[in-house]
Amino acid sequence: MNRSRWLIVGVVAALLGALFVVSTLTARGGDPLTETTATSSTIGRPDVEGGESTSTTSPEPEAPDEEPPTTVPVPDDGFADPSVDDVPDETFSGLGDPRVDVVHYDLQVAADPGVDTITGAATISLASVTEVPLAEFTLDLVALDVATVVVDDEEATFDHTDGELTIRPAEPLPSLEVVEVVVEYAGTPRPRYFEALASEIGWQRDDDGGWFTLSEPHGTSTWAPVSDHPADKATWRISLSTPAGTTGVANGRLVEQIEDGDRTSWVWEQDRPMATYLALVAVGHYDLVRRTAADGTELVFAFPTSLSGDLRAGFDEFEQILAFFTSEFGPYPDDDAGAIVIPTNLALALETQTRPTFSRDWLRPGEVTALAHEIAHEWFGNAVTPEEWTDLWLNEGFATYADLMWIAHSTGTDLTRLVDDDENRMFGSDLAPYSASAASQFDAAVYGNGARALHALRLEVGDDTFRSIVRRWFAERSGQVVTTADFVELAEAESGRDLEAFFQQWLEAGGYHELPG
Ligand SMILES: [Zn+2]
Repeated sequence: MNRSRWLIVGVVAALLGALFVVSTLTARGGDPLTETTATSSTIGRPDVEGGESTSTTSPEPEAPDEEPPTTVPVPDDGFADPSVDDVPDETFSGLGDPRVDVVHYDLQVAADPGVDTITGAATISLASVTEVPLAEFTLDLVALDVATVVVDDEEATFDHTDGELTIRPAEPLPSLEVVEVVVEYAGTPRPRYFEALASEIGWQRDDDGGWFTLSEPHGTSTWAPVSDHPADKATWRISLSTPAGTTGVANGRLVEQIEDGDRTSWVWEQDRPMATYLALVAVGHYDLVRRTAADGTELVFAFPTSLSGDLRAGFDEFEQILAFFTSEFGPYPDDDAGAIVIPTNLALALETQTRPTFSRDWLRPGEVTALAHEIAHEWFGNAVTPEEWTDLWLNEGFATYADLMWIAHSTGTDLTRLVDDDENRMFGSDLAPYSASAASQFDAAVYGNGARALHALRLEVGDDTFRSIVRRWFAERSGQVVTTADFVELAEAESGRDLEAFFQQWLEAGGYHELPG
C-alpha cells in the first residue's frame, strides 16, 4: 500500500473526529446503522407534504407520499469544495456530486414493454455538505428530458448537458439541512456504452420486448436522476407503473401493488442503504415466486413466465448458500433476498441489491452460474461498499473467494487446491488487484488475484484470525463505504502484525506470487 495515501486518510479522519461525533441511528427497517453524525443543530428534516401532486407529467397512478427515513446526512469526506461538482475517482470520473449527500430516493417510473419512452418523477431527499451555502449542485441523468425541478416547493432553474443536471435552487442550500428535490422527466432512455466490457450499461431491452437495467458502474443515471457514485448510498423506494398483464420488479420488498384501471403500480422499498449501481428495474412478463428462509428472510424470485421448471431449479440451493455465508461472515444483512432472471442472452450476472440479476443463458438445468458469487456480494459490495471504484477488488476479490469457500464446503474439496487451480481464474492477469488500471476494465486481477490475496492472508495469519478479520470487516462496516486502507488497518489490528509489505506485494505489485507456507 502507498504510505502517503494512508497518511492522508489518517489526517482526514482526525479532522473529521474534531468536527463530528459518531452515533448509532436506526433506519426504518430496524437495521442499526453506524453513521458519522453532525452535532450541529442546523440539521433539518425534509418537509413532507401530503395530498395531490400538481404534476401533469408524472406517471399514473400516483402512489401516496411517504415520509423519508429519519436519517441525517453523512459527510463521509468532510466538507466538500463548493467548486468541485464530481466525486474525485481515479477509475470512473465525472460522476456524483461530493457537495451533496443523498439520503433517500423515491422514484416513480411508468414503462411499457414494446414502448421506447418512459415517464418519471423523482423525489430526492438530500443535504448540502459544504461549509458555505450551496448555490448549485448536480445530479447525473443521461439523455432524458427534464420538465421541471422543484426544491422544497420552490421552482429551481437548471441546465441539462452531457449527462449532468445542474440545479440552482431559489435559495442556496444551507449546510447539513435535508431538502426535497423533485425532478419530473420523460423521454427515451439511452444506455451508456461501456467499452471495457463491450456492453451497454443502464436501461435496455430484453429479448421479449420488456425492459431491464444493468447498471454497474454508472447505468442508473440512464433512467433516473441520481448522484451516480457508490460513495453516496441512500435508501430507496421504486414505484413502477406497468400495463395490465406485466410486472414491475425492483430491489427490496414489494410493499404495495396499486391497481388503477389498466395499469398497476409495483412499489418496492429498499430500506437499507444502497449504492446507485445496485438499483434494479425490470418490466415484463414475470412470475414472482415467494419462499421464506429458515432465518425468516423473505425470498422473492422473479422468473420470466416462460422459464422452465428445470432452469428455475437452479435456485433451489439458494437458502443453503445463504446459511453457509451467514455462518462464515455474520447474519445476512437484509430481511429480503431472492433473484431475477432476465429473458436475454448476454451472459451476465450482477449483484443488484437483495435480488441479483442473471441473464437466461447463465442457467443450466439445476444450476446457476455464479449464484454463490452474487449472493456473497450482499455482504461484500452491497453492505460494505467501496468508496472509490479503485477499491473494486474489495467487492470482486471477496465474492470470488467466497464462491470458492462455498465450493470447498459443499463438495469437500481442499480450499488451497481450488485457489491454486488455474481453471478458477486464480491467476488471470499481471495487473495489481488494487489499481485503477485493473478496476477500470473489471480485469481478472480484481477477481482472481484479489481472491488469491485473501487466501494468502488466511495462510499468513491463520484460519481463526482470518475468520475474525472478515467477520469484523462486515460487522463494523455494514451499511458504510470503505477503502482498501480501512481493510489493511483492520487486518493489522486484528492480527497484531505489520502487514504493509504483505499487502504491498499481494494488492499493489501485480504479477504471480506463491502462496505462503
Ligand atoms: Zn462480482
